[in-house]
Amino acid sequence: MNDHVLIATAYHSEVRIYVAYTKSLVEEARNIHHTWPTASAALGRLLTAGAMMSFMYKDNTQISLKVSGDGPIGAMSVESNTLGEIRADIKDPSVYLIHNDTHKLAVGQAVGNGYLTVLRKQPYKMPYTSTIDLRTGEIGDDLTYYFAVSEQTPSSVGLGVLVDPDQSIKQAGGFIIQLLPGASEETIVKIENVLSKISSVTDMFEEGLTTHAILDKLSSGDFKLLSSSSIYYHCGCTKTLFGESIAKLDDQVLDTLINEDEGAEIVCHYCKKGYNFTKQELIDIKMNKR
Ligand code: ZN
Repeated sequence: MNDHVLIATAYHSEVRIYVAYTKSLVEEARNIHHTWPTASAALGRLLTAGAMMSFMYKDNTQISLKVSGDGPIGAMSVESNTLGEIRADIKDPSVYLIHNDTHKLAVGQAVGNGYLTVLRKQPYKMPYTSTIDLRTGEIGDDLTYYFAVSEQTPSSVGLGVLVDPDQSIKQAGGFIIQLLPGASEETIVKIENVLSKISSVTDMFEEGLTTHAILDKLSSGDFKLLSSSSIYYHCGCTKTLFGESIAKLDDQVLDTLINEDEGAEIVCHYCKKGYNFTKQELIDIKMNKR
């Protein structure tokens, strides 16, 4: 099963449901950032949320999710767009914390207390930004709170990453159920009933359920599929873009790079690709500033 996001309406169009399968995406992030299991789970949940949210808004909206906490992970961010391109960054990937009693990955502790910031950018429009306090640092709870408070959209967010004993990603995915305006009390009760009966997303994948089967469960068998979109890890950085960033540096800093360092090597935070700028290239960038 390739990574994808399904979007459907259900319960007589009173509800919108997103279901994502993101195993390759999270595995790619693990390989790039060398995340340890708890960091893999935390970043994987945020990536999965970003994947679903990239198809939530209109007109080529770009989504940026930033989590800043006082736990050992420190901070992490995910950026996604309507093409299904997603990239991520994490401050400290070397985090392997488990709960002593359940031996489950302690994502909330690894993230800690802090903030979630959601930034939505649309071409030719003022960006929308909203910051909320983290509820538990488990990401799913925090996004549920974000949708309720910042978007006034009652939602249920389920996100899961199952890490194999060899530390590779065994399962990853999630769902978001959103009540549309005018949803009836009867529908709300039905959804609560469904949610009380299902196991975690990763358990459902482990049981062999496909995203369609999960959608069928969440919608009580009555859904209308609107779209199925591929998603993948894609950074999009280029030497030209980094050159433009260098051009924004102060002349003093540029002079140091040119005369003392005699060049610069820049590593992209999102994909770890390195770009070398020779002394001459830096001189050209400085000349072109004027
Ligand atoms: Zn990059």
